[in-house]
Amino acid sequence: MADSGVKSATDESPRAANRGGATQGSAPVRAEVSNYDIVSHYFELAADRLDVPDDVRAVLRSAYREVQVQIPIELSDGRLHVFSGYRVQHNGARGPYKGGVRYHPEVDLDEVRALASLMTWKTAITGIPFGGAKGGINVPASDCTTAELQQITRSFIDKIDKVLGPTRDIPAPDVNTNAQTMAWMMDEYGKLHGHTPAIVTGKPISLEGSFGREAATGRGLVYLYEEAAPDLGLTPESTRVVVQGYGNVGSWAARIIGDLGATLVGASDQHGAIRSERGIDPHALAAHAKEGGRLPDFQADGVEPISADELLALECEVFVPAALGGMIHEANADSIRCRMLIEGANSPTTPAADRILLDKGVTIIPDVMANAGGVVVSYFEWVQNLQHFRWDEDEVNARLSKIMRQAYAEVSARQAEEDTPLRVAAYETGIERVLDAARTRGYI
Ligand code: NAD
Repeated sequence: MADSGVKSATDESPRAANRGGATQGSAPVRAEVSNYDIVSHYFELAADRLDVPDDVRAVLRSAYREVQVQIPIELSDGRLHVFSGYRVQHNGARGPYKGGVRYHPEVDLDEVRALASLMTWKTAITGIPFGGAKGGINVPASDCTTAELQQITRSFIDKIDKVLGPTRDIPAPDVNTNAQTMAWMMDEYGKLHGHTPAIVTGKPISLEGSFGREAATGRGLVYLYEEAAPDLGLTPESTRVVVQGYGNVGSWAARIIGDLGATLVGASDQHGAIRSERGIDPHALAAHAKEGGRLPDFQADGVEPISADELLALECEVFVPAALGGMIHEANADSIRCRMLIEGANSPTTPAADRILLDKGVTIIPDVMANAGGVVVSYFEWVQNLQHFRWDEDEVNARLSKIMRQAYAEVSARQAEEDTPLRVAAYETGIERVLDAARTRGYI
């Protein structure tokens, strides 16, 4: 491996405090290894195999532009607080920068960098004409009022609007941001530049959002489950599912795979976890969460609260990490008892955990491919906005299905040919496509 400053994959003492915020039982701590270390490790592994020269690798590894802005806000108690906002544009060789904006107290430049580079490989693997970007604000969104969130969002857009644009950089939702956040962003950008719906994706349906966007990431995970399941002899009826992080991605994946016939046997959120051998109704659980209910408070026959560690150890066929990065690490990977791990979250699995799971024979469908459904339907939303035209949900889902299944076919063919894990084959595919575009343009 080239000297990349990447931490040893085994250098993973769990963090002292659960920075994910779980309060019940001995909740899983996130690994010390950062999202940036995780993404860099996988990038370098694939770049080594592709023999990417060091000088070219330096261009691909670093971001094209990194913007950090100050967001001073008067809180409802009258105090002034300064948050930091970030937008990192990693690589634009294949098209305008594209990526979500995350609101979380732990957001920092390193994390946003890592997530931006993941977007570069993700858009390339799925073949959609975007580069990679990500944004974030280190705000504890759940402690803010709606008015504060609106003020913070508008201030962020005012400060980064020069680097945004429907042919430059198009934000979208991520952790703790949603269609409402995107509506505020579109409105603020519109004040400065005129009505421009294609400036953000993940908007509400009433404001030129796309049908199918909200469920797209979870739906994409299920399409890839359908592609991979036959090789493991799995049918939906024989599939028990555990979801870590029952938010947008996790709850949609659970509902859609549940509708196919699979059984949800465990789920968690930042407050704790629940299980039921007989199965949990994924729709009722999603309704409970949407109303603001904490998962451990969900009441139904046969459902019992468990600790977050116990959730990891539940026997199942499919485990879906859909919370935050670094949640599956060296100290807890061995307790996982699934046959397929489908990464809904970005960077949920550290390199050491990845090796442990692969050694146990677990099929890992990696984040760079598995959770691309959101950006694919964001691409559809952008296309519809540019045409001022709208597709119905069936059309959106059919097009999403085609792109996700094609990406899986290409990456799994490479995996078989090179006898390498899916993750390595996926990164190789993404890096090759970005390199090709960058060279053809004359960037490198
Ligand atoms: P979300 O905010 O809707 O859901 C996150 C869920 O994780 C919440 O239920 C939260 O309570 C839970 N959580 C937080 N800390 C936890 C902990 N310590 N233990 C268990 N659960 C915990 O966010 P989302 O949009 O569903 O995103 C989830 C993950 O998927 C993120 O890593 C995000 O980057 C990734 N992702 C999202 C999209 C998208 O379209 N929303 C697309 C690609 C990837």
